[in-house]
Amino acid sequence: MLRECQPCTACCDGWVQIKVKGCEAYPGHPCPHSTGSGCDDYDNRPVDPCRKFECAWVKSGSFLPDSFKPSECGALVIDSILTWQGLKVDLAVPVGREIPEETLAWLMQFAEREMRPLIYQQQDPSSPALEKNPLTLAYGPPAFQEWVLEQQANNISLW
Ligand code: SF4
Ligand code: SF4
Repeated sequence: MLRECQPCTACCDGWVQIKVKGCEAYPGHPCPHSTGSGCDDYDNRPVDPCRKFECAWVKSGSFLPDSFKPSECGALVIDSILTWQGLKVDLAVPVGREIPEETLAWLMQFAEREMRPLIYQQQDPSSPALEKNPLTLAYGPPAFQEWVLEQQANNISLW
């Protein structure tokens, strides 16, 4: 059965960084067309990113359980955001300040079982404001974690 986005609007609400018609959306700064329950210019939404974007939950054949709709589980997953040493790497961003513990535990178990290293984000606990660029953390083999740290230290964008 096809999964329906409604009532989720997580990707319009800035939890994943996007640029729509020249406007940036990021945590705390939704797309200006998001009403919080939909899009006020749906018929004119651009192909990129709006029509093209599919989170890992809504994709047909998704590996995520039914209960992982981003608005319900608190994480928006983008599958295969990059590859590392031939392994697919998934990204999970929080819908809110951080990914709920139970959701993150499931994602980490999945990462181990399927050999798919995980990159996940959370807002800095020491800062009450929502940061545009949340903290980026890695879960996977030590060499993967070191590689992610190295990219960050050298200001190399991971995706
Ligand atoms: S985050 Fe996923 S389920 Fe939610 S609106 Fe976007 S594509 Fe649909
Ligand atoms: S234009 Fe509409 S569909 Fe596209 S991100 Fe904004 S609210 Fe979402």
